[in-house]
Amino acid sequence: MILPVLKYGHPALRQRGSRIEKITPEIARLIADMFETMYAARGVGLAAQQVGHAVQLTVIDVSEITDRPSTLHLDGQPADVRGFMPLALINPEVKAVADPTAAPEGCLSFPEIYAEILRPDSVQVVALNAEGERIEFQCGGLLARAVQHEVDHLHGILFIDRMSREKKQELKVELEDLRLATKAELSKE
Ligand code: ZN
Repeated sequence: MILPVLKYGHPALRQRGSRIEKITPEIARLIADMFETMYAARGVGLAAQQVGHAVQLTVIDVSEITDRPSTLHLDGQPADVRGFMPLALINPEVKAVADPTAAPEGCLSFPEIYAEILRPDSVQVVALNAEGERIEFQCGGLLARAVQHEVDHLHGILFIDRMSREKKQELKVELEDLRLATKAELSKE
């Protein structure tokens, strides 16, 4: 089922996700719905907060993106990124293993708003997968950026929080318009 993606200004986006202790049928259903929603919206990642669930769960798939490379290492060995997709990450923990670089980012909760964001170019990730099994990998490029963007969501952090002051100022009107439109929509419910 395709779920509505909550937009900036919705309070659910600022909620910290609680840890998932067990892959219940409800969680399995949510994972499937989140994949369907992400693909329908042509996104590369979606966090549970964006569909109104404050839990530590995100789905990612960078396999259709060819103009922005991703790297993957499993057990220290280079591995095939496409073969590792799609990815559901539960209770993910991320550690930076490279210096920050700037690259453009968007977010399904911020339609048509893009900005360069500084993030470590490579990260080490430990999480549970959709089956509840522990997975560990190191990734770089777009995949590393997507993982960090989504893990931020799980803690109620949005990419506007990581924008430069100048960029945020430049986008001030658009951001305020979006926030007010979301509030107006919420007050109708
Ligand atoms: Zn996002």
